[in-house]
Amino acid sequence: MNLKAVFPFSPSRAVRLLVGCWCVGATAPAQTAEREDMLAANQDRTVDPAKDFFTYADGGWLARHPIPASEAGWGMGNLVGDELYGKLRKISEEAAKADAPAGGDLRMMGDFWTTAMDEAKADAVGLGPLGKELVRIDAIQTTGDVLDVTFALGPIGVEAFCGVSVAQDEKQSDLMSVHIGQGGLGLPERDFYFNPEKGTAKIRREYVAHLTRLLKLLGRSSKAAGKAAETVMEFETALAKASRKLEDLRDPEKNYHKMTPANLTGSHTPLIDWNSRLAAMSLRPEVVIVGQPEFFTALNRLLTKTPVPVLKDYLRLQLVSAYAGFLGKAWADEDFAFNGKVLSGQKEQRPRWKRVLDSQEAAMGMVMGKIFVQEYFPERVKQRYANLVEVIRVSYRERIDRLDWMSDATKAKAREKLDKLTVKVGYPDRWKDYSALVVGRDSYGENMMHAARWKFADMIGKFGKPVDRSEWEMTPQTYNAYYQPSNNEIVLPAAIFTVPGMRDEDLDDAVVFGYAAASTIGHEITHGFDDEGRMFDAQGNLKDWWTAEDAARFQKRAAVMVKQFNAFQPLPGLRINGEASLGENLADYGGVLLALDAFKKTEQFRNGKAIAGFTPIQRFFLSYAFAWTYQDRAESLRTKLLSDVHAPPKWRVNAPLSNIPEFQEAFSIKPGSPMWRAPESRVKVW
Ligand SMILES: [Zn+2]
Repeated sequence: MNLKAVFPFSPSRAVRLLVGCWCVGATAPAQTAEREDMLAANQDRTVDPAKDFFTYADGGWLARHPIPASEAGWGMGNLVGDELYGKLRKISEEAAKADAPAGGDLRMMGDFWTTAMDEAKADAVGLGPLGKELVRIDAIQTTGDVLDVTFALGPIGVEAFCGVSVAQDEKQSDLMSVHIGQGGLGLPERDFYFNPEKGTAKIRREYVAHLTRLLKLLGRSSKAAGKAAETVMEFETALAKASRKLEDLRDPEKNYHKMTPANLTGSHTPLIDWNSRLAAMSLRPEVVIVGQPEFFTALNRLLTKTPVPVLKDYLRLQLVSAYAGFLGKAWADEDFAFNGKVLSGQKEQRPRWKRVLDSQEAAMGMVMGKIFVQEYFPERVKQRYANLVEVIRVSYRERIDRLDWMSDATKAKAREKLDKLTVKVGYPDRWKDYSALVVGRDSYGENMMHAARWKFADMIGKFGKPVDRSEWEMTPQTYNAYYQPSNNEIVLPAAIFTVPGMRDEDLDDAVVFGYAAASTIGHEITHGFDDEGRMFDAQGNLKDWWTAEDAARFQKRAAVMVKQFNAFQPLPGLRINGEASLGENLADYGGVLLALDAFKKTEQFRNGKAIAGFTPIQRFFLSYAFAWTYQDRAESLRTKLLSDVHAPPKWRVNAPLSNIPEFQEAFSIKPGSPMWRAPESRVKVW
């Protein structure tokens, strides 16, 4: 939970993008004197940096690399992503051929790959993998039966109506608690159901058409399918109406309601006997943490008044939507028609082997990670970035000391939190044991179901046990990073330090500080003190450590950032959600400031020598922008504006930089130009 992604790639489904590592590979071309400077090569010098710094810094690369037909967006990291896809494909193909011992990692990968690549087999197997569940849904007679099936679908990764999970207790981080929260929507986020923007209204119509086609694939006549899809949409819209908005999920205090399961039943959902439902999952908690109690009151009302046949169709659609991508061609094509084309703007399907590697990552990512780091992430690189984290930690401490708006009492607590911050770099100390994961050669869909069951059992198994703080929520080959408030830790997977096409040792400090220190390390550390992270203390407990005056001052300063982002409209009629993206925007802004302070202490900054015509500080800001070289198709941009807490890359560059005096000076930004902000209207938090 609370993942704070720093990377703009967010694939349409839950699977994360894999990115390769050039940083230490012997195959990477060395940067020679003749080779064009990486920052200069990225630029579009016809653009005025005072008008649009992002396009000035990254526009050249983006113009030379149009988005491929099969992609929702494209950025520099995709190039190295393709490198890693190639490598993982080779490993998987070899594993498929090798006569590896049963139960071992290689055999597991080989069996998964072989089965998933076999499209003819998926066609022949048809709906087989879902057969048992579909029969159960057919047999439903009552609302009670609906709930029986609902709770049977949870372990195979189908979240109907709401979500149940086991995770650290926000207020007692050394305890694993049962969390119950809103969920069950078919579209990615609440706002898709209500936003009046034209493109979003079209998505709603396309969604109903998609549900209609899914029901036809299940054997329904056109007319019956169309009518059923409409009623399911009505039901989902009512569920969405009862759900909290993206920005309202950001306040951890307001989304924390401890009660007994009997109390949740008695006060909110008489239809769901939570004690017995949880016991069926081997969970017998004294208390549960309910995110949004009013949602459950509404859910109970909806379950009561909605006819059982509508609920049955809703369950069918939730089930087939979760698995369509792993079934035969007709199903995968329909999945693509909506999730690929409508929501992401892709013109054609990505090649099957890449989609399979994404599934393999979701099913057994850490198995692949073990192989990845052995080859591409030696101790030396791990140490370099671990040291860089400490440099940034020092910067933060100095900034806290200098703040004129924070009292000494709050400063002391902030320093304590910073000192206690745990840092994980590269890959986990302990690898997860996958030996209980069943992977066979019967069907792709079944293997994905096994993987979902394994994941669910792994999560449920944590209840009642001590918290394992050594766990990672991302794999080492993920081009991303996160801050986890309950552990007060930043986690930096190996792949995030990759600079496309460059060897680690060939990077000048300005590049390292702008790219790794600002956009990743500084960003993640700042999350510990953003509007949400600041509510957790040094031990990772949700506990207010701010004086009332300091909290009010923080909020007033952060509100300036909200206002700035609310004013941006990346698509006509669709603005950036300044409230929902506040934490990310504060982290971007803080990340740049912290890395800048640290960079000012380097030899490169002090000697001031220009490289490729840029001063060291210009290189620092160009390198920060370089990290965000990425563009989306309009469809993908719309989906992210409605559902992603990150602003689009262009604004993640231009908005924070426009608040930073050193940037204004470095590029001679004059009053009146778009990248200029007068001192009194700048954000001043850190
Ligand atoms: Zn973030």
